[in-house]
Amino acid sequence: MIPVVMPTYARADVVFERGEGPYLYATDGRRFLDFAAGVAVNALGHAHPYLIKALTEQANKLWHTSNLFRVAGQESLAKRLTEVTFADTVFFTNSGAEAWECGAKTIRKYHYENGNPQKTRIITFEQAFHGRTIASISAAKQEKLVKGFGPLLDGFDQVAFGNLNELRNAITPETGGICVEPIQGEGGIRTGSVEFLRGLREVCDEFGLLLFFDEIQTGVGRTGKLFAHEWAGITPDVMAIAKGIGGGFPLGACLATERAASGMTAGTHGSTYGGNPLATAVGNAVLDVVLEPGFLDGVQRIAGVLQGRLNDLIAKHPAFFLEQRGQGLLLGLKLAPPVGEVVAKLRANGLLSVPAGDNVVRLLPPLIITEQQVEEAVAILDQTAREWTA
Ligand SMILES: *Cc1c(COP(=O)(O)O)cnc(C)c1O
Repeated sequence: MIPVVMPTYARADVVFERGEGPYLYATDGRRFLDFAAGVAVNALGHAHPYLIKALTEQANKLWHTSNLFRVAGQESLAKRLTEVTFADTVFFTNSGAEAWECGAKTIRKYHYENGNPQKTRIITFEQAFHGRTIASISAAKQEKLVKGFGPLLDGFDQVAFGNLNELRNAITPETGGICVEPIQGEGGIRTGSVEFLRGLREVCDEFGLLLFFDEIQTGVGRTGKLFAHEWAGITPDVMAIAKGIGGGFPLGACLATERAASGMTAGTHGSTYGGNPLATAVGNAVLDVVLEPGFLDGVQRIAGVLQGRLNDLIAKHPAFFLEQRGQGLLLGLKLAPPVGEVVAKLRANGLLSVPAGDNVVRLLPPLIITEQQVEEAVAILDQTAREWTA
């Protein structure tokens, strides 16, 4: 008999009843150190008092009005996001896939309105992940995402991640934009080099294309900068964010320059819930914390500690941990044994992690972890590697 919850996930058999900072407590009394963080969502850990306050205060006032009216929380959050990024304007969504979808539509509409209606195609990269809608799986093209869900949407051409030559060769008169994750998350924590990201910007400028970053997983402090592309010193024209910006409350956003968003006029796009008062109250509270002077420096510092300790582990267990990937607290360890089994063993030992492509285990702790919690995680990783080879 089919489970009442549609069985599209191979779920671990554990139910959590509460969380506190980087810890989760299960109904059977077990405690876990959470280096999954809801897949890079719980940026400030669980039950952060400041986020609870923001959400409950808003919940006592107003939940929802629709986007037929002005929403104060959207206006303040959009103002702040535009002040600290390349963007001039923001569309709010409930999820990453919807934020991504808005970005793809923004690119097509831009060219349509600017006398190039043929420029409908977007170049994407192998191993990409942009969400689970028909458009976003059509863009990512990975077999495991698309199998059985055809016909896919036309309009996406794919090249190897990091290969600027292949990219240039894929550009046609119908190309309108390039979409990339600065660090591929689901694909296995594959980091785009600074030269690659700068090269994308140059190619877009040369050919009149819009550069679209999917920072749904990499954004909001995860890499130690507010957004990962800042490490490369370049900016996109359009950017999708979600995950960390809501700290656990469903919230996403599509950010764009005034030029890129020139076609997104009244009536062209919408969302019933997108950016509702509850979501934007939490988004504003997350930004209050992440933009506090010194917060991102703290992320970079603790990330340096964790990265150093992970390198020690690789040196100690070279037949188990093969290499470290990623930036800041968006980290991956490529494994020799199958990642699914390792993630289960880590969980049994009290550490939550997330599998990714390329046999990589993702370590995505909340941005508020301490050195002591890093040591706790490293001890569990060490123990798990020792038990494996014993
Ligand atoms: C999680 C993720 C998405 C999809 O976000 P949803 O909220 O699940 O729709 C898209 N792109 C990237 C890079 C992601 O990590």
